[in-house]
This record gives sequence, C-alpha cells and structure tokens, in this order.
Amino acid sequence: MATQPRVFARSGRRAVTWMAAVLCTVAVSAQTQVTPPKNKYTPEQDVQIGREAAAEVRREYPIIDDRQIDGYLDELGRRLIAASPANLKHPAFEYSFTPVNLKEINAFALPGGPMFVNRGMFMAASGEGEVVGVMAHELAHVLLRHGTANATKAQGFQLGALAGAIAGAVIGGGWGEAISQGSQFGLGTWLLKYSREYEKQADLLGAQIMARAGYDPRDLGRMFETIQKQANGTPPQWLSSHPNPGNRSRYIADEASKLEIGPRPDSNGFASTKRRFDTLPPAKSMADMGREGGGSSGGGAPASVGRIGEAVPAPSRQYRTARGGQLFQVSVPSNWTAVSSNNSVKFVPQNGYGESRGQTVLTHGVELGVARASSRDLRQATSTLVQAFLQGNPEMRVAGDSQATRLSNRTAIGTPLVGRSAVGGNERVAVYTTFLADGNLFYYLTVVPEREAGTYEAAFNRVGQSIRLNDR
Ligand SMILES: [Zn+2]
Repeated sequence: MATQPRVFARSGRRAVTWMAAVLCTVAVSAQTQVTPPKNKYTPEQDVQIGREAAAEVRREYPIIDDRQIDGYLDELGRRLIAASPANLKHPAFEYSFTPVNLKEINAFALPGGPMFVNRGMFMAASGEGEVVGVMAHELAHVLLRHGTANATKAQGFQLGALAGAIAGAVIGGGWGEAISQGSQFGLGTWLLKYSREYEKQADLLGAQIMARAGYDPRDLGRMFETIQKQANGTPPQWLSSHPNPGNRSRYIADEASKLEIGPRPDSNGFASTKRRFDTLPPAKSMADMGREGGGSSGGGAPASVGRIGEAVPAPSRQYRTARGGQLFQVSVPSNWTAVSSNNSVKFVPQNGYGESRGQTVLTHGVELGVARASSRDLRQATSTLVQAFLQGNPEMRVAGDSQATRLSNRTAIGTPLVGRSAVGGNERVAVYTTFLADGNLFYYLTVVPEREAGTYEAAFNRVGQSIRLNDR
C-alpha cells in the first residue's frame, strides 16, 4: 500500500475531527478493547526485573548523555504516558526514556517502564510521529505487562531466574548470543520477544495512545514500512522481536479511523534533535560493542571469524587444549578460534561466526558457558532454559527427547533442537547441561547446518568428552 501524501493526511484529519464532533460517543466506544493478558507477577515485580536489567543496559550500552536529546525523548515519552489509560498506569512503574548511541534501527522497553531508543531508530524516522509511534508501541508492551505475561506462560519460570536471565542476556552471556537468532547482546531473546497476539495488542493500544496524544496512528504503520524498507527485505532486530501479525498497516489504519485524534502538540524538536545527533561521536554498531566488550582473554573478542556464507573448513584432526578461565578446560580442533564473552566462550571455524543480515550469528562450532538455573532439579532447570530460549527463537524447536548423558563425569542432559541456519537449510543444535557446585548450570552447545552434521559429529563428541570442570 502506498504511503499517503502528508497534505492529504492533514485534511483527512480535519474531516475526522469534524465527524468525531458529530459522532463523538460512537467514535469513542468503537475503539478496540485491549485487555492485559494473564499475569502471575505483580507490577512491583515488573519494576524490579526492569530496574535490574536497565542497570545492566546502562553499564554496557553507549548511553547518550546530551541535554537536548534526552530532554526531547523525555518530552515525547511523558506526553504518551499522559495519554495512556489510567487503569493500566500502575503507580509502581518507573518510566524512563533513554537514547542509545547505536546504529541499529531498534528500541526496547523493559518491564516496569525503562525504555531505550537507538539513534538508528531516530535516523530512520522521517518525522516525530514515527518515533512517537515506536515509543507508543513499546509503552503499550510495558502497560500491558507483556514481558512478565510471557514469563507467566513459560512453565517453571521463577522470578530470580528471570531477572538473572535478562541481566545475563544484556551482558552478552550464554543463550542470547549462543545461536543465530539472537543479537550480540541478546536482549531480544528473553522477555522482549513478543507473540503475534501481543504485537497486535501493542499496535492497537499504541495507536489509541498516539491518537489521544495528538498523533496520527498511521505514522506507526509508516514506521513499520520504513523499518522494513531499510532492512532490504530482511527484518532487522526490532522486527524479529516484534513480529508482524499480518496486515499491520491495514489494521492500524482501521483502528485510526475509529479514533478521534487530539490536537497535535506544539512540538518542532524533531529536526533540531536529528541535527544534534550529528554533533555526537559516531554511532556504534552491536558488532563494535562485541569487539570492545571482549572478555578476559586480552585484546577483546573478535566480532566475527571470517565471513558468514563463505566456505567453512572441516574440523582439523589436530586438537589443542583451551581454557575457560578457572572453570574448565577442553580440547578443540586446532583450526577453531576462541571467542570469549563475559560468561561463555565459543570455538568456531573460519567463516562460522559473524554478521548476517544485521545480526551476529554462529553457524558452525560450539559454545561453553554458564547460565542461571531456575531449579535444583536438572531436568526442570534444563527445560526452563530451553523453553525460554525457544520462546525467543520462533524458528527453533525441540527435535526429540532429552537424553541422560555425562559431562565431565557428572550427570547431564542432552537436548536436540532444530532451527534455520543463516547459511540456508536447517540447523542442528544440541544443548548439554549439568550443574556446577554453586548451583548454576553449565552448558555445552553445538551448532551445525544439518547438511554438514556428519562432518562435525566426531569433533562435537570429542570436544564434549574432553570437557573438564574445575569448580570442585
Ligand atoms: Zn512489539
């Protein structure tokens, strides 16, 4: 559908205002009712989870500290809160609106209120209404408490594990970046990936909030189209955590036609704020952050090992010994490179790890790391981890029964998964878990495209059998 010319949109709004004056009660009552989904957590728990995760984000992300930009974003955010339904604004919530100096077209809001908007999102927007649209959509997820509603659906999830899981994902640990779907810092893979049902709710409530705040909700639909276009047909991070329920622009426009759009706020900060960004140091990419965030092994972790899509050499028959800090040692094929992050290390062949369509992906290799356990029962802790992981990776699924096995002479569980590989076709993933002495989970994970599984089987077995944990 072609984008409506602005001039036409403006005269259209006048017509809507006029009609609303006549049909006021009809227009108001016709808006779609959006009801928050079932949630076993309290709003205070939303706040606690969001506060912890936001602290991690502020430590790890290049936060913009600029009075003009901060002030403008805050002004837009406050306007949206003021236009939000009173019954959804929990008094405990702590809203904040923070600009981030990252290139990726992304924005996210954590449970209980903290919202982060990337510079890239601003740059991609063609006007204030589009930025407001994304913010209204994110705010709707907060108000409807979709993050903890997700967790409510995930069996066996416990609050402690939840907060730890988000924090872990933010700091680049384990699961978020373990497998291709996640970004380097993995935020999107836990609470922040929404079902299509929740997406539609956030679109509709976001549209209603926009209209009350004086913005045309169709700008939200336009922003989705802008994001899609910028992505050259492949969805960037934001769209992978906010999947299109189908006919998105259409139902947003339908909803908009039922709404009375309030008087447009007197705001012309968009252009000057956009210019203000030009005075800042250049925006970083997530890949830059991965390089700089690089862990303990000196010199930082590489953001890629070769290029995704180029030929990947078979595992060498020569092995070398590698260490994961004080925690473990392992033998790996001598032609695999170590890539460390805070609580995991990958070993990958040339061209097995790097950027593909704006995301950092692992297509061939292994990862060893530590994750917070949700339970003292290994089967349950593993299942929680796998479930939460699958929830964030819509194209991945469990491919068979979990098997009892051994890892470093300990009781362990192996779980087979199947997903889509960034190099095409299916991807075979296996996750092996065992407890560490401190109650955390240790995992060993293998990833390979299905068609090459035979070439890697012996190497994966040998690496797995060589793992020696030193925690007791
Ligand atoms: Zn969304």
